Amino acid sequence: MKRRSLFTLLAAAGLASRSRAAPEVAPRADRIELDDAEWQKRLTPEQYRVLRHEATEAPGSSPLNHEKRRGSFVCAGCDLPIFDSAMKYESGTGWPSFFDVLPGAVGTKRDWSLIIPRTEYHCARCGGHQGHVFDDGPAPTGLRYCNNGVALRFEVAA
Ligand SMILES: [Zn+2]
Repeated sequence: MKRRSLFTLLAAAGLASRSRAAPEVAPRADRIELDDAEWQKRLTPEQYRVLRHEATEAPGSSPLNHEKRRGSFVCAGCDLPIFDSAMKYESGTGWPSFFDVLPGAVGTKRDWSLIIPRTEYHCARCGGHQGHVFDDGPAPTGLRYCNNGVALRFEVAA
């Protein structure tokens, strides 16, 4: 109730219009667009909730937290490589964390769902939600890509 009236206030101030609706991403030539039912068939229920509805997995729940081998982290929705293992670090948050992202792999948008704005990022090819990026990461970028493990698959380097 309280949250709703705050939302109404923000909407009145014209702030809520910049919400989750419009991804700010340049369309890729290889963009994948499937309808909701097709995604539901293609993904596990947990992948579907995170990738297509921006749910957040429980911290500490992903086996990828402990993945330390060399390789690529690819989108669980469409296999686009998003991170290289060299970009991964231990943030202590309980989510797989990266200080950089592969060029052109993600698009971002402002996410007002917690009222305080955060920057959401998603796979540039299928639009699947990956996580949020914060500016408290390590050198050299100072960024922390806080990723849902369930939205990624790991491919060991050959
Ligand atoms: Zn994808």
